[in-house]
Amino acid sequence: MKKLLPAYPGFTRRALTFTIDDANLKYDKIFIDIVRPYGIRGTFNLCADRMDREDGFYREFYNGFGIANHTNNHPYAIADNDRSEFVNEPAGNQPVDTDLFYLSPRGEGYYMKHTQRGWREWADDERYMDCVTSCQSRLERIFGRETVNGFVWPYCEQNNAKIKAFIKSLGFGSVRKTGDLLDTTDFALPDDRMAWSYNAHNTNLMEVMEKYDSAPDNGSLRFFAFGVHSWDFERDGDWEKLAAFAKKYGNRPTDYWYATVDEIFAYADAVKELKLTDKTLENPTELTLYVELDGVKTVIPPKTLLPI
Ligand SMILES: [Zn+2]
Repeated sequence: MKKLLPAYPGFTRRALTFTIDDANLKYDKIFIDIVRPYGIRGTFNLCADRMDREDGFYREFYNGFGIANHTNNHPYAIADNDRSEFVNEPAGNQPVDTDLFYLSPRGEGYYMKHTQRGWREWADDERYMDCVTSCQSRLERIFGRETVNGFVWPYCEQNNAKIKAFIKSLGFGSVRKTGDLLDTTDFALPDDRMAWSYNAHNTNLMEVMEKYDSAPDNGSLRFFAFGVHSWDFERDGDWEKLAAFAKKYGNRPTDYWYATVDEIFAYADAVKELKLTDKTLENPTELTLYVELDGVKTVIPPKTLLPI
């Protein structure tokens, strides 16, 4: 039997992507203007309630990138083990107390609580589910039903079994819990798609990418994603760093496969479907696949049985 090694398009085993949250139009624009000329792609995780322009504007603005659901209103879900008391008065100038929920100006089912970073908003289970589904409907209306196949928890994965089950029931192909592995996995593809994390953020982007770039080829498909907000680059004065990153690592299609998060996961799934025998290699999937067969670069079109 011949030896089969998977590759991404371009016959590389390194994918490169980003995962950028929150639909911040001003800074997403600067981000896109930097990465797009270098062919770098990734996924924007959008809060539809922050998108106050017409649908067509966003289709054009995010064209060529992936889209995922980051909820409307960006709330925390109330954790199963949260024993905070509910106080029946509007949040305002109360003294700092991290164990009290006050009423949110957003209305019924929303609460405010002090955190280390100031006031934050929580939604009860019913409202939280609304935040997910209302965001999903708007994003699907804008970008098409099949396009919005990922979910990204606001803040991070919440300890709420009912909400976790609800998100699972919606059939997302991937769910990001939070981020920044830095990188403890040797850049393996995430083994749990329902709780995956990105590898680097703006402040250590170059450092982690250099590690990725110099990691020896181990014959398996690898994954590098950086996050997590376009405004992080503004806050930390890192736009030039992003530009240097794009210049150094962009436009190298035989070294990196530039794809959205969904595309990378879908490709990795498709590669697992390849069927190799002594005489044939079959690609039963809808994707064109790239492999090395005894070191020979081979392209297998969708739904094809290749004599070897
Ligand atoms: Zn967010």
